[in-house]
Amino acid sequence: VAAMGTVSPPPVELFKPMNFPLKTLMGPGPSNCPPRVLNACSLPILGHLHPEFVQIMDEVKAGVQYAFQTKNEWTVCISGTGHAAMEAACVNILEPGETVMVGVNGLWGQRFSDMADRNRVKVEKLTKPMGTVFTLEEVEQGLKKHKPVAFFLAQGESSGSTSQPLEKMGQLCHKYNCLFIVDSVAAVGGVPLFMDEWEIDVVYTGAQKVLSAPPGVSPISFSQRAKEKVVNRKTRIPSFYFDMNELANYWGCDDGPRRYHHTGPISSVYAIREGLARLAEVGLESSWAQHKMCAEMLHEGLEKLGLKLLVEDKDIRLPCVNAVLVPSDVNWKDVSDYAMKNYRVEISGGLGALAGKIWRIGIMGHNATPDNVNLVLRAIGEGLQHCRGKSS
Ligand code: PMP
Repeated sequence: VAAMGTVSPPPVELFKPMNFPLKTLMGPGPSNCPPRVLNACSLPILGHLHPEFVQIMDEVKAGVQYAFQTKNEWTVCISGTGHAAMEAACVNILEPGETVMVGVNGLWGQRFSDMADRNRVKVEKLTKPMGTVFTLEEVEQGLKKHKPVAFFLAQGESSGSTSQPLEKMGQLCHKYNCLFIVDSVAAVGGVPLFMDEWEIDVVYTGAQKVLSAPPGVSPISFSQRAKEKVVNRKTRIPSFYFDMNELANYWGCDDGPRRYHHTGPISSVYAIREGLARLAEVGLESSWAQHKMCAEMLHEGLEKLGLKLLVEDKDIRLPCVNAVLVPSDVNWKDVSDYAMKNYRVEISGGLGALAGKIWRIGIMGHNATPDNVNLVLRAIGEGLQHCRGKSS
């Protein structure tokens, strides 16, 4: 073949197999996938509109409706991680010049505010310290004052490890003609969520937490009220990729024949199908109980080691991500490095105002087992002994 130019040599790294150790991921996500999920990723690829794939999409949709406890027709997966679903909620529901009220008690309210602001939506923040949650009274005051078209809350605020109570919050929002958007990326499957009963208008989650699937496909559901807001927009949805009218068609939520919108991430859809099947087989109530049991076991063990949790009120502790205060005589990173080096177990640090001040220990889905809790406790306990007083 006649050379058209000088070809750069191929990268030699690609001639060697990937090589990494097996790790137990007990941070805030991703969490480990069970073999059935990993096996699903290696199934042969189907076409994104083949009837067999369409059936798998329908099964995913039914699984998401179960996980969210909703009958919403507009229930789909966004092809992207949790941020993509967050962005989809933002760009479909909100229009430039409208007001959104955002509960900010950690990173995720902050992120949603950022997204809304980029879309020229007016953002009114209800701000509270990380590790605390919002009361109905606080929200009502905000609704009266700001008259937002939508209100955002994170159910599982993974940066402050809180579980936001949501009962009656949707009804309250609707009293003020406001839609209710909930981020349940770090919560669904780990704590109760009743989308329809609690009158939540948009809920989204990710694949890599309690669903125990690889990151990359993110379930989202829109209530009838939310759908009407989207359908009756005055301005076009600024994103083609996240346009819910298109996605609803691709996911078979309208009467029309499914059209090509984008190529569904086939293997990731297989994987989340198996993650949802796992949750369905375990059952939501058992899954919630398992997360609670493991989290309490962790809390007791940590207390025995002389450690304290960031969130004092047991009722608002998120079992999926647990924030532990770092004692002053130890550097969080030393202990976390010790745990990884000696036990191949991941324990993460804090974000934002809590960086350096907390460890975050995840207990999610397939990883929510007493054995894993014991592994973390052993690694932290030994790590503390080993690292105490060694660095500032
Ligand atoms: N919301 C919450 C509450 C989260 O914990 C995360 C992930 N840490 C996200 C959103 C974003 O998800 P992703 O990293 O998959 O984009």
